[in-house]
This record gives sequence, C-alpha cells and structure tokens, in this order.
Amino acid sequence: MSVTSKHAETIVLHAGYRKDSATNAVAVPIYQTTSYQFDSADHASNLFALKELGNIYTRIMNPTSDVLEKRLAALEGGVAALAVSSGQAASMMSIQNIAQIGDNIVSSTDLYGGTWNLFANSLKTMGIEVRFVDPKDPEAFARATDDKTRAYYAETLPNPKLEVFPIAEVAAVGNRLGVPLIMDNTAAHGLCKPFEHGASIIASSCTKYIGGHGNSIGGIIIDSGKFDWEKHAKRFPLLNTPDPSYHGAVWTQAVKPLGPIAYIIKARVTLLRDCGQALSPFNAFMFITGLETLPLRMERHCQNAAKVADFLKGHPKVERVIYPKLMAGEARRRADAYLKGGYGGLCGFELKGGVEAGKKFINALALFYHLANIGDARSLAIHPASTTHSQLSPEEQMATGVTPGYVRLSVGLEHIDDILADLKKGLDAV
Ligand code: PLP
Repeated sequence: MSVTSKHAETIVLHAGYRKDSATNAVAVPIYQTTSYQFDSADHASNLFALKELGNIYTRIMNPTSDVLEKRLAALEGGVAALAVSSGQAASMMSIQNIAQIGDNIVSSTDLYGGTWNLFANSLKTMGIEVRFVDPKDPEAFARATDDKTRAYYAETLPNPKLEVFPIAEVAAVGNRLGVPLIMDNTAAHGLCKPFEHGASIIASSCTKYIGGHGNSIGGIIIDSGKFDWEKHAKRFPLLNTPDPSYHGAVWTQAVKPLGPIAYIIKARVTLLRDCGQALSPFNAFMFITGLETLPLRMERHCQNAAKVADFLKGHPKVERVIYPKLMAGEARRRADAYLKGGYGGLCGFELKGGVEAGKKFINALALFYHLANIGDARSLAIHPASTTHSQLSPEEQMATGVTPGYVRLSVGLEHIDDILADLKKGLDAV
C-alpha cells in the first residue's frame, strides 16, 4: 500500500517506499550490489531492449537510489528522477542530455562558482556555448535565443547573490520559444517548487540541504514530464532522431508507453551508461535519511538565518546585509512570490573593512566552521572571493555577486543565542 499526500512533511517519509519487498524492512536497505541476476535469457534481453524496466547494473540503476529518485520526484511534483554522483554531474548531464557540439544554452549570470566554471570553460571545450544574461531582465533570455538554443538555466536562490530567480517569467519566455527551463533548486528545496512556476527540469545538488549533514556528495535530475519534446522536434534532435547508441531508438517514441519520461530515461540509459556518474547506494541511503527531516530543518534554518540577518543589519561594522527578506522592490517581490515558509538558510554580508576585515572575522569564529559547503546542520562561513569563486576573473566575480569583502554564512541549527554570540565574537575581532 502506498501513502499519497500533497504535504512535503509526509512525502519525504513515505513516497515511493513502504517496506522492503524481500524482508519487510522499514528503513530503506542499502543495496550494495553491482549487478542483478536475470531470471532468464529472455528477461535479460527484454531489460536491455527496454521492453521491460528492471535492474541491470548499478552504474545505471539501483533499488536504494530508486527510492531517493521517487521521493525527490514526488516532493517536487515531477514524474521521474535520476540520482547522480554530485550536483555538478546533475548540471552537466541536464544539459548534455539535449545539447551537443554547435548548440547553445542561455544561463543566468547568478550562479554557484563551480557551475560558472563548468559553463564558461568545460562546456566550451565540448562545443556547447553558454550565453550569460542578467536575470533582472527576463526578456534577455528571449534576445539570446536562436534556433540552436537547447535550454535556459538558473538557480532558484542563487548562491551567493541570494536574489531569487524570476522562474515564471523566464519559463513563459521558454514556453513561447519552445525552450525548457532547467532550475538548480539546491538552496531552496522545501521552500520553492520550480515546476509549479513553469520550469521543466530540476538539476540540484543533494550534498547540501537534502543530505543536510555534510557527509555525502550527490546530485539529482528531476523531470517535470511537462515539456513537449516532440512538439519541438527540430530543436531537440537528440530526443527525436534515431540514437545510434541504442539500436536507433527515437527516445520520444520508444519511451511513450512508459509516460512522459523520454528526457530522464535517455539520461539514464545513455549518459549514465557511457559517462558513469553513478551515485553510490550508501550515499543514496544517507540522502534518504537526510530528506526525512528536510521540511523540519528548512524551517529552523530559515528562522535562524532571519535572526542572523536582523542582527547583522544593525551592526556598525557591517556595510550591507544580503538576505532575501531584507531586499526591496522587485527582488523582494520575487522572494515573496517564490519562497514559501521562509527566506532560506543563507545570509551574506559585507564588512566595512573589505578583504582584511573579512579574514579577521573568519579567523575569530569558533562555532561556525570555515569551509566550502552550504546546507549543513552546522553553521558555516566562507569568504567566496578567495575560495569558491577564486578561479573566476574579478569581472566574473562581480557578475556572480561576489564583492571583495563579501562573507557568506550558511546558518545552521544550533541554538540562535550561540550562533549570534559567535558572530559577535567575529565582529569584535574586526
Ligand atoms: N549548485 C549549487 C547551487 C551549489 O551551491 C553547488 C555546490 O556548492 C553545486 C550545485 C554543486 O554541487 P556538488 O558539490 O554536489 O557537486
């Protein structure tokens, strides 16, 4: 018997799995196996020919990852998902699945530094051009589009700028021109559901809030099932023309009997098969465990971060505080339109003393960890200009929202009094 619910708190505990069919185990078993015994020669050939769906080899699918995929698809209101080895693998594959040499995508400038590097450098070496546009102007996506444009790409709550992306506005442009919007929802799972605003695909890191405890790297691609790849067949030849690597299968046709899952099936049986960015079953188990408390943790992350933002706002050594709740005008409107239940767990601020003050502040912290991650249960702090975004040029840093004195906090679940006391200690040292 499966439990259905529209509530995130219930979905993360029950969607896609009730008990193990072999043992009745309630916790999801870690299927630490590479391979699966075929029932017969016909069974084996049916699985390889996709006439039947079933387990073949853990590089392509695994029963533990399957539960994570089903739960995250249910949480986001999608039809299917693919768990992969990192958030970076999710971003890469989400594009590689529909774009090839000579194609382009249009991306928001407001990106995590690693994604910026992937787009500006690695994708370029593969012949895929990324056209960066300012998300303040949704029509900029339309102006950058041509008949080789295969996707729009953006982060819901961009790390570190924290200006919420205009999902519905850009999805509407994509709807007009036949281009799917891929959203990285890493910092906003549990707060925003991009599919409800017209996005077609989610490509996120599970390493952050989904896992929630800073112990595992992984990523997820989720298919809304709503984009009509067949209607835009000329724009998406990889889904609408025979695939020589799979007996000439035309993915939109071959997968039709299984539902609107051509995009995600192709990613699984071609990209994961060939490039191998598989998630380990153990990490899938860690993410399933983390996911069970995501709604509860996000609530507290948001409460604590809002109190941190208020505390910093009034401090004489702080130049400005970057937190969606404190933004004005269109940025605040977008935050209110797209984030439900809080303004996120990330808070940035600029010290009046610039880079040197930032370093003194970070060195004086005792409770906050100084490290390159977000979304941990523990509070974290980093100076992006000298770390996560250091491989970007000064102009690129500015475009992604990284000024020299910017400090980013990922506010954790400790008692708020201890969090504020540690920040005070840091500020006293400046
Ligand atoms: N997307 C965002 C918004 C991130 O912050 C990160 C990592 O910090 C990634 C993607 C990449 O995720 P991973 O580290 O799991 O590869």
